[in-house]
Amino acid sequence: MSFQSTKLYSVVSQTCPRCHQGPLFVNKNPYKMENWDKMHADCPVCKLHFEREPGFFQGSMYVSYALGVALSVGVVLLNWIIGFNPIAYFISNTLALIVLAPLLFRWSRALYLNIFISYDKKSIA
Ligand SMILES: [Zn+2]
Repeated sequence: MSFQSTKLYSVVSQTCPRCHQGPLFVNKNPYKMENWDKMHADCPVCKLHFEREPGFFQGSMYVSYALGVALSVGVVLLNWIIGFNPIAYFISNTLALIVLAPLLFRWSRALYLNIFISYDKKSIA
């Protein structure tokens, strides 16, 4: 089993959970403000419809929350290593959450899709 066939690859590379080739998002760069959150309706490679039902991606908000909490715990641990200061923690955590918000948004959607859809090598015609 190669890394390219794992769910982690699909999440990190923001590719279709079924074929792992088609991009989930129209714009590959999450920090390019134009269309940073726009997704393809269907996979350009295997034609999988991403929004499985109306409001499907509302569930990814829970994943996004969990990722945000994990990031904040990581920032706490880093602050403890350099000597905990509440003000420094508040500033560094706020900055981390703002700067990484586009990535958290995309990873949470990719993670949520990967919960329901598995890799299928045969989907690539
Ligand atoms: Zn696909």
